[in-house]
Amino acid sequence: MNSFFTHLECTACHATYPSDQLIKTCPACAKVLYARYDLDGAATAMTLNALARRPWNLWRYAEIMPVQDRANALTLGEGGTSLIPAPALGRLFGLNNITIKDEGQNPTGSFKARGLGVAVARAKELGATAVAIPSAGNAAAAMAAYAARAGLPAVVAMPEDTPEVMKAECLAYGAKVLLVKGLINDCGKVIREGSERYGWFDVSTLKEPYRAEGKKTMGIELAEQLGWRVPDVIVYPTGGGTGIVGMWKAFAELEAMGLIGSKRPKMVVVQAANCAPIAQAFKRGERHAPLWENAATIAPGMRVPIAIGDYLILDALHESHGTALTVTDDELLEGMLLAASHEGLFVAPESGAAVIATRILREQGFLAAGDEVVIFSTGLGLMHTDLIPTNDLPILDPANPDALDGVG
Ligand SMILES: *Cc1c(COP(=O)(O)O)cnc(C)c1O
Repeated sequence: MNSFFTHLECTACHATYPSDQLIKTCPACAKVLYARYDLDGAATAMTLNALARRPWNLWRYAEIMPVQDRANALTLGEGGTSLIPAPALGRLFGLNNITIKDEGQNPTGSFKARGLGVAVARAKELGATAVAIPSAGNAAAAMAAYAARAGLPAVVAMPEDTPEVMKAECLAYGAKVLLVKGLINDCGKVIREGSERYGWFDVSTLKEPYRAEGKKTMGIELAEQLGWRVPDVIVYPTGGGTGIVGMWKAFAELEAMGLIGSKRPKMVVVQAANCAPIAQAFKRGERHAPLWENAATIAPGMRVPIAIGDYLILDALHESHGTALTVTDDELLEGMLLAASHEGLFVAPESGAAVIATRILREQGFLAAGDEVVIFSTGLGLMHTDLIPTNDLPILDPANPDALDGVG
């Protein structure tokens, strides 16, 4: 299982760079770099026969992953998440075929494990001595876990109001935790400055080429789970956009390798009503999304007011004939509770946004009853128990014979 990674290519100016340097964005134009592979070579090695014998985790796709030496792969069991039918939500929404890709099953409870497992492994492979990240919470936890695994010092910068669970988790992994006044872009400034001063390697979203490679395995895995085909529609809660962008890249690579055909899913970006830079740019037909002022939502992963990969996300939306929409915090909370109460899946608020967006898209006619829809549940609800108040629950006194009156 050798990697067929050949070089890096700029997504904007198409300049190319060698694969063995620790570089971040394009040195020429500062845009996003992609890892490129010898896909013909990869296709001869990553055959269906070969795959049949490999463990069900993301390293099964090693030929189209950037880690060069398999010994450098860091694993906590990332990837290999379930694709779970959601018939009760389907009946409720008038859709015959909804499935939920349950990314909450990943180590540290979100799909962030995929990208950061790969990015930290690759940073270490190329000689980084410390890794750092600005994060709304989940990315910090994932990076801290893989840094611990790699034996690298880790620095995370999070908004001060990040859920306590995520702060505690990062401390447990031994990371240096910096709480910052402001949002993730403000945390980004702190990490950039720290990286210059102290030589940390910054693994911010799409500001190094390898997180997207980990995220792309969501698309590969989905296609494999469906028998090497893609669904009609993918609904994805979007912040920095690596999920959408990574999957879109995966589908192109799989087609070039002859594993899937030319059909693509319609990609759907879901954002919060009060933080919707991508949805707004899509509506206006623009290719870049300016900073969203006063961004606010209870879904931390979607509280991303500016995205360096805006043009890549918007291109995927256009090329796939997809769409972008927004939901309010009340709506996404409703979606979270619907998934939990109807399907037994306690999902993150971001995932709740994707659930409720699916209902809205059906109501608006974007989705037809027979469409095969895959909702990405990007994370676990367990980190967000604060959103579901429990302090009004009565306390029963078992010594009181009337304690159960009116309960049944
Ligand atoms: C980071 C995050 C998102 C946003 O994902 P992007 O791929 O960065 O757009 C969505 N949901 C959860 C739970 C997240 O942690």
